[in-house]
Amino acid sequence: MISPSGGLERLPGYGRYSFKRIVAMTPSTPADKTADTGIVLWHSDELLNWSRASSLWPLTFGLACCAIEMMQSMASSYDLERFGIFPRPSPRQSDIMIISGTVTYKMADRIKRLYEQMAEPRYVISMGSCSNCGGPYWQHGYHVVKGVDKIIPVDVYVPGCPPRPEALIDGFLKLQEKIRAEKPHLP
Ligand code: SF4
Repeated sequence: MISPSGGLERLPGYGRYSFKRIVAMTPSTPADKTADTGIVLWHSDELLNWSRASSLWPLTFGLACCAIEMMQSMASSYDLERFGIFPRPSPRQSDIMIISGTVTYKMADRIKRLYEQMAEPRYVISMGSCSNCGGPYWQHGYHVVKGVDKIIPVDVYVPGCPPRPEALIDGFLKLQEKIRAEKPHLP
């Protein structure tokens, strides 16, 4: 699929390199209609959304028992990396935060600070009942925030106590759909 020149091939009659590699990697996009000529015409916002949706980098960050399921979804059986989802150790290298567990008032401040340190555009998946609405602590948990969306915006809610790795993967697929439909983020 990728040529020895790194996917960029010189076309006869053209003084510059064409973007054959992009054409080859996106067979279902409008770009493949022009594959014969080697010229790519593509909306830049679609290209940006496609590249963002295909390389989500979540912050390595867990709060309670749901985090065990999150770790499992990144291990060999479920292998989130095949979707381009690759955990990073620093908020400055991440563009998505998975809130996996109970959000206590003590942690709320730290979560907000980490979220603000992430680069924009940034996204949040709320994983599990605790993070969605307080979970089993909803009624008597005086120390638990009743939904992480009270402190940061949430893009996708994954239900369950705990949600299985398949449910988290489904949450990521929903988020990718949302990103692909976004308008461009202008500075
Ligand atoms: S939703 Fe259930 S599994 Fe997840 S952190 Fe809360 S109590 Fe634990």
